[in-house]
Amino acid sequence: MRSINVTIWNEFRHEQSPTPVGDLIRRHYPEGLHHTLANNLAAPDLALRPVSLDEPDQGLPEAILQTTDVLVWWGHCAHAEVKEELVDRIQRRVLSGMGLIVLHSGHFSKIFRRLMGTACRLRWREAGEKERLWVVSPAHPIARGIPETFVIPHHEMYGEPFDIPADGRIVFMSWHEGGNVFRSGVAFERDRGRIFYFSPGHETFPIYHDPVILQVIGNAIRWAAPAEIVSERVTPQPQPMEKIFSDNPLADCDTSSLHQPAPEAKKP
Ligand code: ZN
Repeated sequence: MRSINVTIWNEFRHEQSPTPVGDLIRRHYPEGLHHTLANNLAAPDLALRPVSLDEPDQGLPEAILQTTDVLVWWGHCAHAEVKEELVDRIQRRVLSGMGLIVLHSGHFSKIFRRLMGTACRLRWREAGEKERLWVVSPAHPIARGIPETFVIPHHEMYGEPFDIPADGRIVFMSWHEGGNVFRSGVAFERDRGRIFYFSPGHETFPIYHDPVILQVIGNAIRWAAPAEIVSERVTPQPQPMEKIFSDNPLADCDTSSLHQPAPEAKKP
């Protein structure tokens, strides 16, 4: 069986911060979140490749992107640094079939907002409160083997209203100790690509060491992995497959000009 090529992209800035918070984050993620995720997700069917923003071509040159089946994305303070050209390339690859798993503060990344078409705003509070997650779509492949409910002892609160499109399939819902609720795991399809947003993963807590969280991410990778990636779209102008008996009322009329771009308006 061919393994799934997974690229784990991390902006990798908080982990290098020369501050006491940076020290705390490095205790959980000494080489960065992307390397911890790659180590902890290791499985015979996954080929995991950690990359980061400050690498050549922002970590995703064509040679890497074109050999990626599923892209995992963690970003926070450097969303604005990601080049539009890279967002264009990732979007094309997702629409052709590449899976995309967007974690935690990636809700506000350029690529997630581009693919959702909404602002993706949410409420948030950093109080280290308890979060309880519930599986609300038990038949979904991402929920396979996951307990009906489980707890993250301390997390950043992400709360509703969360400005995402309504076509997402809600797999997990969260309750926070302070009273807020949140759609914390939502699955989308965009053209040929599958996308999963999963909110756990604030950098100051050891969340990517939690076996249940890792199982959700692993399930999501396997769900989002494409059977094939189709980069060339078929021109949508097929010959009829059955004989058409109806008279074409426009048979004598040349309509080809209607499909040409409008000529540029003459300047006065
Ligand atoms: Zn956070």
